[in-house]
Amino acid sequence: MPRPPKRVHQEAKKESAPPDQPPNKSAPENVEAFTNQGFKNVIAATKAANAFPQGTARALYLSYPGYARVMDDLSQRVVALIGNVLKANNIKGDIRKRQVEEQFEMVQESNDILFERITTNLDIKSGLRRNPQEVVETQVDVMSSSTSAEPAEVSPQTQETPKAGSWNRTTGTPQRNMVSARLFTAKNIVRPQTQFKEPVDNSAQNPFVPRLKEKPNSLKPLALLPEYDDAGNIQSYLHPYEFELLKFQPAADQLQKQKPVLPALMANTELMVVDTVEKLEQALEELRQAPQIAIDVEHHSYRTFMGITCLVQMSTRSKDYIFDTLILRDDMHILNLVLTDPKKLKILHGADLDIEWLQRDLSLYIVNMFDTHRAAKALNLARLSLAYLLKHYLDLDVDKSLQLADWRMRPLPQQLVDYARQDTHFLIYVYERMTNDLLQQHADPGLLGSVYQQSTDVCKKRYNKPHIGPESHLDLVRKTKRSFDNRQLYALRGIFEWRDATARSEDESYGYVLPNHMMLQIAESLPREMQGILACCNPIPPLVRQQLHTLHQIVLKARDQPLVKPILEARSSTQASLPPSTKDFSSKLYCPHDFSHLEEIRDDLPTLLKRSSTSGKLEIPRAEEVANEGLPIAAPAMALFEKQSKPTQEEEQRWAHLRKESQTLRMPYKRYLAILPLMVQLKADQLARERSELQKRQLCPTAPTVEQNIKLEAHAIKKEEDVVYSVPLKEQLKRKHPQANGKPDADQQPTTSKRPRKDENRQPKPPVKTEPVEEVQQGAGESDDEVVEVPIERQATERPKPSPAQNKRQQKKNQFQRGFKAKNRGNHPQSSSQQIPQHTGEGNFDYKNVDFRQFKGGAQRARGTEIKQQIRGKNRPNNRNNKQFNKLFTFSNVRKEGKK
Ligand code: AMP
Ligand code: MN
Ligand code: ZN
Repeated sequence: MPRPPKRVHQEAKKESAPPDQPPNKSAPENVEAFTNQGFKNVIAATKAANAFPQGTARALYLSYPGYARVMDDLSQRVVALIGNVLKANNIKGDIRKRQVEEQFEMVQESNDILFERITTNLDIKSGLRRNPQEVVETQVDVMSSSTSAEPAEVSPQTQETPKAGSWNRTTGTPQRNMVSARLFTAKNIVRPQTQFKEPVDNSAQNPFVPRLKEKPNSLKPLALLPEYDDAGNIQSYLHPYEFELLKFQPAADQLQKQKPVLPALMANTELMVVDTVEKLEQALEELRQAPQIAIDVEHHSYRTFMGITCLVQMSTRSKDYIFDTLILRDDMHILNLVLTDPKKLKILHGADLDIEWLQRDLSLYIVNMFDTHRAAKALNLARLSLAYLLKHYLDLDVDKSLQLADWRMRPLPQQLVDYARQDTHFLIYVYERMTNDLLQQHADPGLLGSVYQQSTDVCKKRYNKPHIGPESHLDLVRKTKRSFDNRQLYALRGIFEWRDATARSEDESYGYVLPNHMMLQIAESLPREMQGILACCNPIPPLVRQQLHTLHQIVLKARDQPLVKPILEARSSTQASLPPSTKDFSSKLYCPHDFSHLEEIRDDLPTLLKRSSTSGKLEIPRAEEVANEGLPIAAPAMALFEKQSKPTQEEEQRWAHLRKESQTLRMPYKRYLAILPLMVQLKADQLARERSELQKRQLCPTAPTVEQNIKLEAHAIKKEEDVVYSVPLKEQLKRKHPQANGKPDADQQPTTSKRPRKDENRQPKPPVKTEPVEEVQQGAGESDDEVVEVPIERQATERPKPSPAQNKRQQKKNQFQRGFKAKNRGNHPQSSSQQIPQHTGEGNFDYKNVDFRQFKGGAQRARGTEIKQQIRGKNRPNNRNNKQFNKLFTFSNVRKEGKK
C-alpha cells in the first residue's frame, strides 16, 4: 500500500522542483547539472522502492507489527512531504485527507499541471507562444514634466479607494501642468530581454562595457580604455569616439545660412520599417547618400532594470525609417558608418538620453550632432519642447499624448508608427530654420557654434549603470522631510538594498519592484506583521508579495535594533517641532511621501506688486497700502533715535493680537486660503482689463482679423471650459467643488458661498494690500471647518469617473492646448537643462483609470496561464489522455516529454 505514494513522491519531488526553485540566474549549465542530479535521484528512489518486499513477501512482513508500524509512519511522512510540495506549487486540496486511491490520482493530476506550466513557461521563454496582443488604452493625467529620476511607472492600479501608499496620487491639489496622456500598452507583451542574444548584465559590480567591435570613421583605432577607481577596480570605460569628438568641427556649410525646405506631408513620404538585416543594409546604403539625418529613439523602462531601446526613427529629406531595435539590437551598429561620419549632420531633439540608450543597447555613437533642444535654449524660445518647435516653425499641432506608450509592443500598432515618425519627420526643416535664427541673432556664427559645441558635449556622454551606495537611502529620507529614527533608517536601508538586488536579478525597474512611497511607508511604520507590509502597498507589487518573507525579516531585524538618538541630521525648527507621527492608514489624506503635486517653480503667485488695471503693468503699491505690513509685533525695548513713548492701548491690543497670531501655526493650506481673495481680485482686475481691451477692439471700425477671432475663441473656451492651465488653482477648486460635492446645500460649499459674502462686505473698499492680512485673521478665527470642507479628496476620487460633460471638456481642453502642452520635456524654460525626459517619476501618473492587470506584460503572463490551467483541472477535454500519458510519463521517461 504505501509503495505507490512513495515512488510518486520521489518523482513528484523531482519534477515539481524546477518551478519551485529560487530563480537561478547564474548559468544554463546549472540547469543541466540539476536535471542530471534529478535523474540520479529518481533512479535511486525507484531502486529503493523496488527493494521493498512485494506480493506475498510483503504480506508476510506486514504481519510483524514493528514492520507495519514503521512502514505506516514512513508513508505518512512521505504523503505529508508530497502535500508540502503541492502546496508550495499552489495546487489546491490536501493530499493527506484523501483516500489512498485519490492520493495517487491527485499526484498524477498535480504532475500534469506542473508539466503544463513548465512547457508553457519554456514556450514563453523561447518566444514560441505569443498570445495575440491585445491593445489597451487608458486616458490619464500626467505631469507635463518629469522630475523624478525613477524609472517610468506605467503601471498597476486598482479600482479600490486609495489608501496610504497607494499608486493613486490623492494629491488633492489640481495640477497646473497636468496634461492628458494615453497609456497605450498591450496585454501579453513578451519580455524582449528574453530574446536578447547577449543577456544584459545588471550587476552592480561590473561597469558598463562598450560592445563596439568596429570603429568606422576613426581617427584613433578602437580601444576600450578603462578608468580605475581608488581601489584599482575598473570603474568605467572611456568613450570610444572621445578623440574624434574632441577633434570635431562642424563643416563650413553647416555654419552658413540654410535654405529651409518644407518637408512633404507624412502621407506623401515613403516609410521603411526596418526589421530585418537585409532592410537594415538597404537603409544604410540610402542613409549614406543623405547629408542630414534626423534621429529619435523610443525607450521602455518599466519592466526592465536598465531600460530597453525599442525603436529608432530616422528621417532624411525624402524618406522616413523606423528601425525595430528589439529585433536588430545586435545589428544596428553598422549604422555607425553614417552616425559617426563627421561630414554628415545628425539632428536630434534633447539627445542626452538618446545618446546613452543608443550606445548602451545598439553600440551606436554620434559625431556631428545638432541638438534642437539646445538650439531652442540658445534662442531663448518660450518653450523647449519638440512640440513647441513644430508649432513655432511649422504651425503644427502634434499629439504627444502617446508618450506613455509601451514601445515593446509588436507588431507595432499603426498609431505608434505614425506617432514615432512625426518625431523625426520635420526635424531637418526645424534645424534649418533654427540655424538661420541663430545666425540672425549673432551675425558671426558664435551662437551657432556654441550650439554645436554643446551638442558635441552631449555626444560625449557615456552610459553608466545605475548604482546605489550605502547612503543612497538617506537621499530619499531627506526628500520626505520626515525624521526617521535609527530603526526606521535601518529598515529603509535594508529594503532599499533588497529592492536594488531584486530589481537587478529580476530585471525590473525599482518602480516595478517597490515604488518609493511604498518603501518609505514600510520603513516608517515598521509593521510587526507581514500583513502590515502589504497594507503599506496598494496595489501590492508582485515581487513584494513573492518575497514578503524576506522583507518581513528586514523589518523585524530593524525593529530589534536598540533605539538610539533619533534624527539623522539637524533639521529646521519647524520640522523638529512636528509632533511624532500619528498615522491613520485608512485616511486618504495621509500620503506624506507624495510630493508629486509639489511644483518646483511657480511664477504666478501674488507678490507685493500689483497689476495696474489701466496700464496692465506691475506697480509697487503706495506707501499707505503697505504701511500695515511693517508694523512691529512688540514694542521695541530700546529706541536708538527716538525717545520711547509708551504704547497706546490700541497698539497694545494690536500687538497682543499679532503675537497670538504669530504663535499659531498656520497650515500651508490655510495660508493658501488666506491668499485666495487677493487672487480673486487679481483675476477680476485682469478680466476687467481684458474686457476693456475687447471693447476697444469692438469699437475699432475694421472687422476683427482672423488672429483676433482665434484669440477671442480661445478666450471663450478658456472661460467656459475652466481647465486651462493658466486658471489659478483656486479657480479650479472653486468650480469643481460644487460638482464634486453634488449637494445643493449652501453650507456644503464654503468656497462658493462664503467667499462672495466676504467680497460683498469688502466691496466698497479698493483692492488694497490689507486684504490678505484681513483674510488671515478671519481664516484663523473663523473655523477649521472651512478648510476641511473643501473637498480636495472627494475631487480626487471623483475624477476616475468623469461625467460625459467632463470628458468633453477634457477633449476641448486637449484640443486647445495640444500645441503648447504637448511635449513633456523642456516645457519649463527655467529648468530645461534637466528637462530631458528621464523616466516618469512615480508621482507623474494618476493611475485612476488604469487597470492593474493591464500592465502585467511579459513575465506576468505565465501566471495567468497557470491559474487558468489550475481552474480547468479535471474538466479538460483531454484530461483522460493527459492522465494516462502522465502516468506513463511519471513512471517512465521524462526526457521524452520534456521535448514535447
Ligand atoms: P521622445 O524623445 O519624446 O520621443 O521620448 C523618448 C522616450 O523617452 C520615450 O520612448 C519614453 O520612453 C521616454 N519618455 C518621454 N517622455 C516621457 C514621459 N513623460 N514619461 C515617461 N517616459 C517618457
Ligand atoms: Mn527623443
Ligand atoms: Zn520620440
